Amino acid sequence: MTEDFAGQNKPVPPEQTEQPTAGRGFSTLSVHGGEAHSKPLDAITDPIVCSSTYTFRDTQSVIDFIEQGQQREEYGRYGNPNERVVERKLAALEGGEEAVVFSSGMAAIVGLLMAKLNAGDEIVFFDQCYHRSREFCYKHLARFGVITHQVPTGDFDAMEAAITPRTKMLVSESPTNPQLTCIDLEQFVALGKAHEVETLIDATLATPYNFRPLEFGVDYVLHSATKYLGGHNDLLAGCIVGSHEKLEDVRNLRGIMGGINSPHNLYLLQRGLKTFELRMERHNQNGLAVARFLQDHPRVERVYYPGLESHPTHEIAKRTMRGYGGLITFLLKDADWRQTADVVDRVRLARIGPSLGGVETLIEQPLVMSYYTCTPEQRQQFGIPDNMIRLACGIENTQDLIEDLQQALDD
Ligand SMILES: *Cc1c(COP(=O)(O)O)cnc(C)c1O
Repeated sequence: MTEDFAGQNKPVPPEQTEQPTAGRGFSTLSVHGGEAHSKPLDAITDPIVCSSTYTFRDTQSVIDFIEQGQQREEYGRYGNPNERVVERKLAALEGGEEAVVFSSGMAAIVGLLMAKLNAGDEIVFFDQCYHRSREFCYKHLARFGVITHQVPTGDFDAMEAAITPRTKMLVSESPTNPQLTCIDLEQFVALGKAHEVETLIDATLATPYNFRPLEFGVDYVLHSATKYLGGHNDLLAGCIVGSHEKLEDVRNLRGIMGGINSPHNLYLLQRGLKTFELRMERHNQNGLAVARFLQDHPRVERVYYPGLESHPTHEIAKRTMRGYGGLITFLLKDADWRQTADVVDRVRLARIGPSLGGVETLIEQPLVMSYYTCTPEQRQQFGIPDNMIRLACGIENTQDLIEDLQQALDD
């Protein structure tokens, strides 16, 4: 009997779905992608299959399943029907062969790196990144003998210099959090190919609507589906998209680690994705309009938004992205941390909270929300000044958002 004994973890191939999606537009993929044309009981929506286990008619059926690697469900940790649909939809939206969905973005990052790296391996990543990703690499991968090199974001010479014969992966976000630096993926992929090192892009802030890294030749695209993909601030999930071959060991490890979603959660994600294109259009519109308003406001020292010409990587963004999303980071002029907090506290429509990409606008001061326990030196190292505010525009009326910020800044 082989190790992969139960024929487990085999995603149902896309060709088994009846819904014709090839060549269809993005919103059509959002609504219909990955879904079967005919569903149980003639329902138009997919049923939520609340089952932790799946039964077999007789012993021979179990043996056939194992020996022939039949594509059917077996046990919930290896997958469920709601997950198959969401995975196919995400793969269709991202233009990838396959997607593997996890219980959170962090579970996806941890799952991918654990599946791909061995003791003695090294990874190199750009330093502007989600703080928990950094923490996982330095605190936890290190315990398993994996070495992480962090280099300044966008500095390809530094990245190349950090590559050794033991380097297995180059990692970056694009755009990065919270400075929204966009990475030149042509250079990033070329560097990986030149050194035969795999490449991973966390494209959570861009989403496949705005940016499709696989088209540049990146090996893995990762998303916190908690953000724009789910889109309603009501679920946590993560996913990795890439080739079937490269994701096989990731899927197998997920079946062992168990970082999977409940069928209910997956249904919420599927439902959220139905309006993905519509939501992204409004996030992009709000992001650009609010960024322009902030840029012109006398109390604002600097705005980081890739859609503004003043952003250091605007040219890369313009060349590679369809829109720039709802996330804006800005610095207040001559404000200490308390005066910055006062502006955050005066905003009424936007709610104070971490996260981004949901329909509700969120605002936060990174110093307080994510870096409060860091020393001032660490905050400086991570590029988090005291007067920084991060605003995640939702899909509310654009003018209402601007008026809300206006009253908070003018007070
Ligand atoms: C939120 C986020 C993550 C982590 O995702 P969770 O779903 O919260 O685990 C990773 N990367 C980026 C860029 C994020 O914004």
